[in-house]
Amino acid sequence: MLRGLTDTQRRFLERLETSATVTPLQQQRHRDLIDALAAADVLEPPPPPSLTLAVSDAGPIGLSVGRSAARDGWAVRFIDDGRIEHAPPGTYSTGVIASSRQGAACATVRSQMPQARVSVGDGPADVWVVVSHGAPALEVALPLMTADVPHLFVCVDERGSRVGPFVEPGIGACGWCDGLARADEDPAWPRIALQLGAPHPATPTASADVIAGATALVLGALGAWRSGDAELWRNSAHVLTTGQPNARRTLAPHPRCGCGAAGPVGDDLAARRARFQQSEPGQQ
Ligand SMILES: [Zn+2]
Repeated sequence: MLRGLTDTQRRFLERLETSATVTPLQQQRHRDLIDALAAADVLEPPPPPSLTLAVSDAGPIGLSVGRSAARDGWAVRFIDDGRIEHAPPGTYSTGVIASSRQGAACATVRSQMPQARVSVGDGPADVWVVVSHGAPALEVALPLMTADVPHLFVCVDERGSRVGPFVEPGIGACGWCDGLARADEDPAWPRIALQLGAPHPATPTASADVIAGATALVLGALGAWRSGDAELWRNSAHVLTTGQPNARRTLAPHPRCGCGAAGPVGDDLAARRARFQQSEPGQQ
């Protein structure tokens, strides 16, 4: 007998009656319930949850995020084949032998947490953290938008960093919604963003307080999403400036963005997404 079920738990149980598959996300969200069902011999015990986080950076920021996420039970994949000498000295554990930043970050986390599930390179992930310098890395986010993969932007500049928006494609403001809103405020923004986002060998970095603050925000958003309640992290960005308290900015889905978040759901959403899929980054 199961008592005190929430509405979400009840809906999950109803779905179990018609579907035998339990996704890794459902395993994370309903672990207690699944354990109770397994204990009652109603369900086969699930394999251990294995939600994967991809981090598009393996410098000081990506490593800080990845290390904390691994500690929080995520399987972490670093995707950054930049050279290790273009990261600040002291970024990685002493004695780590690697030529790429992703290899060095992976080895550093393993040296501190041998049980951590950490890997490098391309591959599927449940959620992404997209780290960049100067302007949000829309070129990294485009395939995530078309594949409906949630992602969180972390963008650093000389003053600090900006964390957000946390994007659930088609549900909340995306990187292009954000860019369109910035361009409404400052018509020069698209040109500036293009210049700031130009490829640079140096890895994004920031002061210690900004890196720590950004890591905390990222872990907060990821944890909320994993437990099924990311609403407070959508449609917002957090601005971290060295030596100052954080500021929160509200964002909104932009009516001219093709991501579908500003439009009604249904066929119209599918049509908007199909258009979005054909567009190139920077042309929105
Ligand atoms: Zn959008």
